[in-house]
Amino acid sequence: MSNCLFCKIIAGDIPSSKVYEDDLIFVFKDISPKAEVHLLVIPKVHLESLDSLKDEHQSLIAYIMLKLPELARSQGLEDGFRTIINTGPGGGQEVGHLHIHILGGEGLPGFN
Ligand code: 5GP
Ligand code: ZN
Repeated sequence: MSNCLFCKIIAGDIPSSKVYEDDLIFVFKDISPKAEVHLLVIPKVHLESLDSLKDEHQSLIAYIMLKLPELARSQGLEDGFRTIINTGPGGGQEVGHLHIHILGGEGLPGFN
């Protein structure tokens, strides 16, 4: 999608701190980290949110989920990590391109 911030990051039109990329996903550091490690994992195909997924995306979503532990470990998160997916305005989603937050290390905030 031409006016999507994260599509522009994937294309390299907006700089980012990339930590991983393959045919299906792009992974980069959040510009405003909420913990020592804060990554954003995004599909290269533009999908608005969990709410726009269809059956045809099953294998892509499974691929992303299975990749998360490896990505977390690659950033030194050996003993665990937190994942967050915000969906829609009611879920606090600010960027309309599906993304999974990976958080961990020092300063990991609580939920309360
Ligand atoms: P959301 O609230 O939509 O789940 O999360 C969006 C995230 O994207 C936020 O944590 C925010 O800090 C991050 N973000 C917004 N704009 C940029 C950007 O231009 N570059 C990077 N690396 N992260 C961004
Ligand atoms: Zn996009």
